[in-house]
Amino acid sequence: MHQMTLAEIARGLADKKFSSEELTKVLLARITQLDPQLNSFISLTEELALEQAKAADARRANGEIGALLGAPIAHKDLFCTQGIRTSCGSKMLDNFKAPYDATVVAKLAAAGAVTLGKTNMDEFAMGSANESSWYGAVKNPWNLEHVPGGSSGGSAAAVAARLLPAATATDTGGSIRQPAAFTNLTGLKPTYGRVSRWGMIAYASSLDQGGPLARTAEDCAILLQGMAGFDQNDSTSIDEPVPDYSASLGDSLQGLRIGVPKEYFSAGLDPRIAELIQNSIKELQKLGAVIKEISLPNMQHAIPAYYVIAPAEASSNLSRFDGVRFGHRCEQPKDLIDLYKRSRGEGFGPEVQRRIMVGAYALSAGYYDAYYLKAQKIRRLVKNDFMAAFNEVDIILGPTTPNPAWKLGAKNSDPVAAYLEDVYTITANLAGLPGLSMPAGFVDGLPVGVQLLAPYFQEGRLLNVAHQYQLNTDWHTRTPTGF
Ligand code: GLN
Repeated sequence: MHQMTLAEIARGLADKKFSSEELTKVLLARITQLDPQLNSFISLTEELALEQAKAADARRANGEIGALLGAPIAHKDLFCTQGIRTSCGSKMLDNFKAPYDATVVAKLAAAGAVTLGKTNMDEFAMGSANESSWYGAVKNPWNLEHVPGGSSGGSAAAVAARLLPAATATDTGGSIRQPAAFTNLTGLKPTYGRVSRWGMIAYASSLDQGGPLARTAEDCAILLQGMAGFDQNDSTSIDEPVPDYSASLGDSLQGLRIGVPKEYFSAGLDPRIAELIQNSIKELQKLGAVIKEISLPNMQHAIPAYYVIAPAEASSNLSRFDGVRFGHRCEQPKDLIDLYKRSRGEGFGPEVQRRIMVGAYALSAGYYDAYYLKAQKIRRLVKNDFMAAFNEVDIILGPTTPNPAWKLGAKNSDPVAAYLEDVYTITANLAGLPGLSMPAGFVDGLPVGVQLLAPYFQEGRLLNVAHQYQLNTDWHTRTPTGF
């Protein structure tokens, strides 16, 4: 039962092959049995799950239909869930029970999805390995000595290990696509503004975007359908109609123009990954796509720009965690300054503290022009590169990551080494574009992802290309041994 995709579950529930309650019990038992190896969950919500499953079964018995009605999912632990711990992977929020549901959580619950729990993540979504979580590192089900990617590593490891079919995640600089690549999943970062950020604890507000992590493009379409849409509560939400994503999965790729940026194949890319990317290009050519070499000349500046802008926004967003209104408060503060200092010093881990310091420095009066303003100018150039490229091609294709998942601890002493691994993903966040990662093969038994980028609001195009590819390849069906 645990092998089923969301699409298969929806068919099974509609055909009354099993109930949502039965399926929910099977998956909860599986999580209890197998998750100790992975550490992919921070909280399990068994009672809520069984309640929601029974309610979904009753709605189906009343004749209601819907792809998500009775479907088990989990939420990355930065989506606020009413009355349930929402920790953001941080000691700071270990005791925080959200007073309301995030829009994404409320929308999926209304569609009948069943929440099994909250998944582990890098602290405040800062990281690429899921090692900065206060709840401990998450292990990659493909090799327990390797990282699952981050920051949505818990959602990715859980879905890859067949603990559940799909989960929500967020992507500020790659945190949906990179863990998808590292664990053989399909993950979609939507256009900025497509999915509401209300109730999604902010890391870098101008870059953060929620999206689905699942095993197939078909399932990402189902989950995205439940997440996307305008929200009055989010001032950056965009009032664009939400298309039927599943209906866009049947389009032919005949004549589809795929741009491959020449900058993507530089010395930093593992040649074995380069070869797998070339194979995926050949596969898409067989399906009728036309390949064109393009250039994204400002790509080389994207990492430094991102690692100024994201920490700058984080330093501002995280100032609210002061020990007064939310979260951790130190014992017996001497005075107000001592309360702030010790609450924050104790509540935030080293990576979060590092980013707050970098961000506050970049925003300070003396350095604003040299760092923050400069980074914003680069951001515009990165966007302009994409706009020029999309005049010539329909999608852009390349690797999701330069290397496969590294060993736990391998990059702990050198944060910049981890930052450099984000080279292919962060440009989409800087420009606000949608991006998808899908399985493209294996290197030393570890999964590799191919990334597709599209113009604004062309999520349907990305899902369709990935679906056509998945109809003709079987990488996405491979299961990690032991799960
Ligand atoms: N690895 C990037 C960072 O650490 C991206 C994280 C994310 O997308 N949340 O900032």
